Amino acid sequence: MGSVERIVPCPVCKKPAEPRSRNTTFPFCSDRCRRIDLGRWFGEEYRVPSPPAEGEEQPPAPDDASER
Ligand SMILES: [Zn+2]
Repeated sequence: MGSVERIVPCPVCKKPAEPRSRNTTFPFCSDRCRRIDLGRWFGEEYRVPSPPAEGEEQPPAPDDASER
C-alpha cells in the first residue's frame, strides 16, 4: 500500500479536498465547508431528541438523605 495520499471529494461541495497532511480541515476542502457540515449536524441534533444513554454519568440517588 505505502503512504499514497488519496484525493477525496469534499463531502459538502464535492470538490477534491487536499490530503490530511496539507489540509487541517480534512476531509473537507476548506474551513467553510467544514462549518457547513458541522452546522448540518447540529441542526439534526436539535430536531432529533436523544434520550440520555443509560450508564453514562448519572448522579447517585440522594437516598442517604433519609438517614437523618
Ligand atoms: Zn468543500
